[in-house]
This record gives sequence, structure tokens and C-alpha cells, in this order.
Amino acid sequence: MVGIIEVKAGYDAAKAAFQIAQGMSALKTEAAINGAIIELQRHTVDAQRGLSASLETIGELEKEIVRLENWSAEKERYKLKAISPRAYAYTIKPGIEGGDDPHWLCQPCFDSSHKSVLQWAGKTVSPSGITGTFATWGCRRCGQEIHVGRNQSPGDPNANNDPTPNRPLNYDTRGIV
Ligand SMILES: [Zn+2]
Repeated sequence: MVGIIEVKAGYDAAKAAFQIAQGMSALKTEAAINGAIIELQRHTVDAQRGLSASLETIGELEKEIVRLENWSAEKERYKLKAISPRAYAYTIKPGIEGGDDPHWLCQPCFDSSHKSVLQWAGKTVSPSGITGTFATWGCRRCGQEIHVGRNQSPGDPNANNDPTPNRPLNYDTRGIV
């Protein structure tokens, strides 16, 4: 996004150009007038850049407002769930799926007003060293990864059947190989 610094620089340039234009009638020599014209042109170019930056900033802010308005309605469709003993994700509330397949949303992204669907990223090794016991699901937006039972999926009605936070990871034996 264009920064406020560029916008402020444009405003300052327009102000400087205005002051130069106001003082031009008092200039006595051709050299002084030519110098003032060059300064005026420089400030005018900077002012035009600032105007451009302002318009770009306004456009970006308008898009962000629309996105947040849409997000405000969209986020009401989800609730935070413990989908495994140590993994949380936002899941769609029953009855308002709207044709969407079951999916998990990344919790950190959701809490910063972004919808990012977690994607299966492969099997992983359990803390006790059993390969393939758990599956990793990752967020491609922020890089967050969660580990759930290898057979758990967003469409699994038992995915959050025991969200006890302190339950040991290897307690969930549904996916043990
Ligand atoms: Zn994320």
C-alpha cells in the first residue's frame, strides 16, 4: 500500500508550489524568475506524484473496506473448535455450509480477518517416534501447521469428539499404524 509519507510529500510540494507562484510577481530579474519556474515545475511534479499516491491509497482502502465488510458476514459462519487434543481450527457451523465441502480454517489467519483453508501436508512422526501416526495440515498463507490423527479430516464427524486440552497426543489411537 502506498504510504502516508508519499501523500504528505505531495501535499507539501503543492503548498510550496503555491507559495512560489504567489511570490513570482515580486521577482525582479530574469534569472530569479527562471529559477522560480524551475522550482515551480519540480514541486508541481512532486504534487502530481502525491495526488497519484493519494488516489492509489484511497483505492486500496476502498478495497479493504469491501473485503472487511464481506469478511464480517463470512466469519459468522464459523466457530473455533479443538479438532484434536492440541490443534484448533475454525469450522463451519452446521446448517449453513452453503454447498461448501467440509473444511478447516487457519486460526491465526481467521483471527486477523483472513480466510485460509488448511491443506493436507503429509504424514508426520508422533512424539513417540511412530511414523505416520499423525497427519500435518498446513496454512499456505501464514505457514502455520497443525497435527491431527492421520485419518482425521474436516469431513470426519469425530474430528473433535474429545477436545481435552491436556490429553496426551498419543491418546488418540484412531490413526495409529
Ligand atoms: Zn494461516
